[in-house]
Amino acid sequence: MIDPSAAFQVPAQQDEGPNGLEPLLGGQLREKAVWVDESLCIGCRYCAHVATNTFVIEPALGRSRAIRQNGDSTERIKEAIATCPVNCIQWVDFEQLDELRAQLAALELLPLGLQSSSRRRRIMALES
Ligand code: SF4
Repeated sequence: MIDPSAAFQVPAQQDEGPNGLEPLLGGQLREKAVWVDESLCIGCRYCAHVATNTFVIEPALGRSRAIRQNGDSTERIKEAIATCPVNCIQWVDFEQLDELRAQLAALELLPLGLQSSSRRRRIMALES
């Protein structure tokens, strides 16, 4: 079982220089948030292997989720986005995140790479 809290136990991999995020304090405020459209994700795990402090494979559905916005450098996240075979990772406005989460929650997504109860029933029917 994957523990998403593990991503918060390691230091963030920020770009060199001040990383307080607040520009007035010398940090860099990333203009966009990273978002995974989990309805399109095929669960290949490439992004989670590249930007390990940002993307986690959600254990119930087997799909990637951006759980942290300041865990990896912008370059590292760009690299992770480039690995996605279905282009389902996007830069969005921070203000869009709540609405996108609500839209995603309204969908009925099937688990990837996990045996669903209907699949188990089919296998049992074939074996009998
Ligand atoms: S690279 Fe894309 S398809 Fe693969 S797990 Fe990440 S978001 Fe999903």
